[in-house]
Amino acid sequence: MDQKTRNELLKLFESKLNQAMTLYLETCSRCGVCTKACHVHESMPHVKYIAAYRAEIVRRIYKRYFKKQGKLWSTLGESKGLTDMALEELYEAAYSCTGCRRCVVYCPFGIDTQMIMSIAKLLLVGANSEPEILTLLADTSITKGESLEVFKEGFLQGIKNLEAQVVEKWQIEAGVDAIPVDKEGADLLYVALAGAHSIIPAAAIFNAAGEDWTLSFFEAVNFGAFVGDPTKTKLILKRIIDEARRLKVKEVCICECGTAFRVMKQQSGDQPFKVSSITELHARYLKEGRIKLDKSRFKGTVTYHDPCQMARNAGIIDEPRYVLSHLTDDFRDMTPDPRYNWCCGGGGGLVALGEDTLDFRMKSSTVKVDQIKETGASILTTACENCHTQLSNLNDHYKMGVDVQFLSSMVADALVH
Ligand code: SF4
Ligand code: SF4
Repeated sequence: MDQKTRNELLKLFESKLNQAMTLYLETCSRCGVCTKACHVHESMPHVKYIAAYRAEIVRRIYKRYFKKQGKLWSTLGESKGLTDMALEELYEAAYSCTGCRRCVVYCPFGIDTQMIMSIAKLLLVGANSEPEILTLLADTSITKGESLEVFKEGFLQGIKNLEAQVVEKWQIEAGVDAIPVDKEGADLLYVALAGAHSIIPAAAIFNAAGEDWTLSFFEAVNFGAFVGDPTKTKLILKRIIDEARRLKVKEVCICECGTAFRVMKQQSGDQPFKVSSITELHARYLKEGRIKLDKSRFKGTVTYHDPCQMARNAGIIDEPRYVLSHLTDDFRDMTPDPRYNWCCGGGGGLVALGEDTLDFRMKSSTVKVDQIKETGASILTTACENCHTQLSNLNDHYKMGVDVQFLSSMVADALVH
């Protein structure tokens, strides 16, 4: 690596050094409490998968360039230069961490390994060493935001084709659009993922609840966040903020995508609308008596996987359980409880990397498989697309024999007319 590149990367590093990050980088007591907190290490016990070890790779670079005695630290093996080899280590650390933040709840100092890994990811982006596909997908989302007119017609036609399937699930009043789009003054903007599975059940439930809603032109997923590029994360988020403001909605509802929800909820700043997850909305509809569900629709024991970005990292814990209490009398929670729930093993962009990470995802998630099996459930439900894909992969790979369901699909299928 030449000096110019190194200097540019160090500038990126410096841009991340706020007060909290500095504390994380300077505090670790090497107590080792986080060792057993990480699903990767618990499933594949190797030192490189210890949370504190991952952080140490970033910390050594920090000590080398941002601490006064950097060179001295180097002779003690405590600091390390930013080299091509260091980039390889950063890649291994960052893309074997799902950003689940389970280690944070165990660490006595609350050291946020996911935040430290965000430095690793940013350096990889700066060095053009990140997984290319994630950047390509992020760029595609940004381009779509910049040239709405180009794809608008195709999008609207695609939506029209889905409307019959929405009506099949919930017979709407004559004259009402089954999937309203671009409706100025609607109360709620729903931001889905690409694909009918994220639109049809949601639309049926909105219509059954009599919601005044409109579908976003944009998909919720934020590949900028997965690849750890703050600029792209903001640009992808901005498309939805701008649309919500243009349509003057009071609420933005994010579909079953944990990262999209967390980014929208925690990074959209002060806005004239509130941000909700679709699970919160379904719980609200049930509380207000706006929808009713048939408890006999699903047979067998049901368990729920708390997506890390929804539960531990955004506090959506009671709502899915409230919804499930209207879907079944045979719900069994996983152990340990939601704040300490094991990650599914697919976050942080790993599921988006598909086959490339499949082997690692399967091997690094055996604790999750055991946790699910211990419930004895025949239906495994969740409220995140990433988790659903990973859990389905685990189900196939380990022949678990469970029925993996989206919580919103269960709600839509159990709607009572
Ligand atoms: S954030 Fe999750 S995957 Fe990453 S080190 Fe911590 S426990 Fe492991
Ligand atoms: S639990 Fe916290 S302080 Fe202890 S080794 Fe892990 S990161 Fe360091």
